[in-house]
Amino acid sequence: MAMIQKSKRLEIKASRTDWHENQKGKQGIIFCALCNAVYYKKSWHHNLRYYKNLHEDLKVSFATCPACTAIKNNEFEGRLIISNVPKNITEHLENLVHAFTHRAYQKDPMDRLIAMKKTNGTMEITTTENQLAVKLAKKIGEVFKKATIKISYSHSKKDKAVDIRMEFLA
Ligand SMILES: [Zn+2]
Repeated sequence: MAMIQKSKRLEIKASRTDWHENQKGKQGIIFCALCNAVYYKKSWHHNLRYYKNLHEDLKVSFATCPACTAIKNNEFEGRLIISNVPKNITEHLENLVHAFTHRAYQKDPMDRLIAMKKTNGTMEITTTENQLAVKLAKKIGEVFKKATIKISYSHSKKDKAVDIRMEFLA
């Protein structure tokens, strides 16, 4: 196992691109102090399983990963608002959202559901990654084939953020 050297907490920005820029040319690995995700080889992983060069003097530092930072600050990169959700499918839809985002998280620790809010037949789902929201919208469209679903995308002013509206048409 690598010897863990404590080093000062890094100041980081939420976006992954910034992460890659900050880490260019640096040695060692970074652990997220909140979720235990590990950063090496230019991306975040759930563990060290694929890290090939573990050695004694490996430099280890701690930080808050972009996904945990986004969740803490409630800064979503993807938002999906579904309106006119029929009552009889609400539970099915919720389960689908949880299962889909959980599978995405298992594949990539930075892909996460931030929140799911329900109000009067409307569901608002926010995610840490824009593509996760896009894929989730497509999946919902596939699963609820009988429903007529209207999808519209709009990129908000925040760079990279995507806003998707879906509506169940009666
Ligand atoms: Zn984290």
